[in-house]
Amino acid sequence: MMRRPLSLPAFFMPVTRRLRTIGLLLPALAGLALLAGGVGFRVSEGMGLAALQETGHHRLDLYAGSLEREIDKYAYFPATLGLERDVLDLVSGRAPLAWGLNRYLERLNERAGTLSIYVLNRQGRVLAASNWNRPDSFIGEDLSYRPYFVEAAAGRQGRFFGVGTTRGEAGYYLSAPLSEDGAIVGVAVVKVSLEQLEQGWSTVEAPVLVTDENGVVILASVPSWKFTTLRPMDEPTRRHFDQTLQYNARPLPPLGLTPVSRIAEDAELVRLPRPPGGQLEETVFPVSGGFLAQTAPLHGTGWTMTVLSPVAQVTGMAWTRAALAAVGSAFLGILLLMWMQRRRHLHDLERKVEERTRTLRAAQDELVHAGKLAVIGQLSAGLAHELNQPLAALRTLSGNSVKFLQRGNLEAAQGNLERIAALVDAMGALTSQLKSFARKSSGAPRPVAVRRPIDNALFLLDQRLRRSGVAVHLDVPEEVTALCDPNRLEQVLVNLVANGLDALAGREDGRLALTARTEDGRVRIDVADNGPGLSADVLPRLFEPFFTTKEGAKEGGGGLGLGLAISAGIVRDFGGALTGANGPDGGAVFTIDLPAATPPTDPSATLAAVQAGDLICPTLPSPP
Ligand code: ADP
Repeated sequence: MMRRPLSLPAFFMPVTRRLRTIGLLLPALAGLALLAGGVGFRVSEGMGLAALQETGHHRLDLYAGSLEREIDKYAYFPATLGLERDVLDLVSGRAPLAWGLNRYLERLNERAGTLSIYVLNRQGRVLAASNWNRPDSFIGEDLSYRPYFVEAAAGRQGRFFGVGTTRGEAGYYLSAPLSEDGAIVGVAVVKVSLEQLEQGWSTVEAPVLVTDENGVVILASVPSWKFTTLRPMDEPTRRHFDQTLQYNARPLPPLGLTPVSRIAEDAELVRLPRPPGGQLEETVFPVSGGFLAQTAPLHGTGWTMTVLSPVAQVTGMAWTRAALAAVGSAFLGILLLMWMQRRRHLHDLERKVEERTRTLRAAQDELVHAGKLAVIGQLSAGLAHELNQPLAALRTLSGNSVKFLQRGNLEAAQGNLERIAALVDAMGALTSQLKSFARKSSGAPRPVAVRRPIDNALFLLDQRLRRSGVAVHLDVPEEVTALCDPNRLEQVLVNLVANGLDALAGREDGRLALTARTEDGRVRIDVADNGPGLSADVLPRLFEPFFTTKEGAKEGGGGLGLGLAISAGIVRDFGGALTGANGPDGGAVFTIDLPAATPPTDPSATLAAVQAGDLICPTLPSPP
């Protein structure tokens, strides 16, 4: 096939196509990376939040438990004051204020580590207090408006977080009714500080806060969060606070906690703004940004505890993983593309190879066809040449014979007719050679002891051998067995021996040696003579049909140049090869190489082979 030079547009075509492919692939790759990144982010964030939720839960349990225990410690404290005779006497108005009682309360307060302990009468006026000797003592104050008094005066336990009205000190008020003979005669109050607990919280890694029933932050691990509100407060509520002085008229600004999304019943993602004016508190945890807020009610109070776990780390990790997933998927995508490209390339190559093979096969078929035609041409030319001469001779001889007969010269006519008969015989010999050229292998190859066809061939040529005086040397062991057809092998051997005799014609010391041996699973039969050998121009054309160096027709149709061509074909049919070479001491050596046969192991088959004459001296298998 001719290669045409590529035109310029054709040269640029693959480049533009490639660019177009890249233009399509790049967005696809980017899309894949984005998708993988997105999925990676979501999965990582989900896992991180789940882990955060788990630790948040533990923290919540821990802190809530400690707070509840702290409050429970004082739960029955106020009620126990009702067991004191002096207290009951005082609130019921039976005895005047005894300074001993004040001192008793003071000592009790010190021991219990509470902020203050005081006793009120039925009207809400403070009669005795632990801080009796301080300038800001409650004694004499009317606290009937305080919710803890209202509750206890109604016979219930009062629980109230508030800011003290005199000193502005925040604390937890626990109150209990003081009753005598079933009637409420006064109220006992204990004020507890929860500051210590709060201080303990500030050292942990997540901020904690406690809101009361009004949504006001009353405890927080970040001091500035205290007395802020989680939800905006309406006017009536604010007015109510002003009345009860629960937070001692503090402004209660909103904390600014904004919900982002709820991820569970008790867990929500929230955001906290940066503290105004950039004032940053000394905390071990972040106080602004994204948080996972988890809440739990505190038993025995109307309060709610909230743990805020910072999500920055989770988000950071999710971003890293998303980036990794994106890069990884892009890399995989590129690998996949490269692999696909390679496959396509290989596919193209395969297709090209297939195409070339097809073209070559067609060319080969053409060549074979042409070769066949050439052989037929050669054959026809050879035949025409071989037949034309005797035909012309026949024409002349027959014409002459007619003339001789007309003249009555019978002797000359008879001579001509005899020559005509000889010519017809020679032509018959030629056609018989052609017949054997056309003949295919007659049967499947079978194990044959080569000694038998060799003996037969020598027997056939016995007359010629005797006349030539050539000495035949035979070295063919009887056990040499080849896979072939004995008759056709015999044909080949006759040819080779006849060629040898031709080569030795006119020599006094002519010698022919036939040897056979088995070697590496092959049988080699050598036919060697001590004739002139094969010259350099004969050797390469030895097996060419009609190649001959022999002049004119000889006995047995020799000189046609078909003998070796036919023989080589026969040997090839057996899966062997026929080669010709010069012997070490001059002369030609023709070698028949055949597959060796193992003699049949089945005794009946062996017997049949012996009877057919294929095997001579069988190695009988030993009986089982
Ligand atoms: P033919 O015998 O009809 O010429 P072959 O094909 O048998 O045709 O042989 C071809 C040629 O090979 C012979 O003409 C001869 O030149 C050469 N040749 C074959 N055998 C021998 C031999 N033993 N010694 C020398 N030349 C040989």
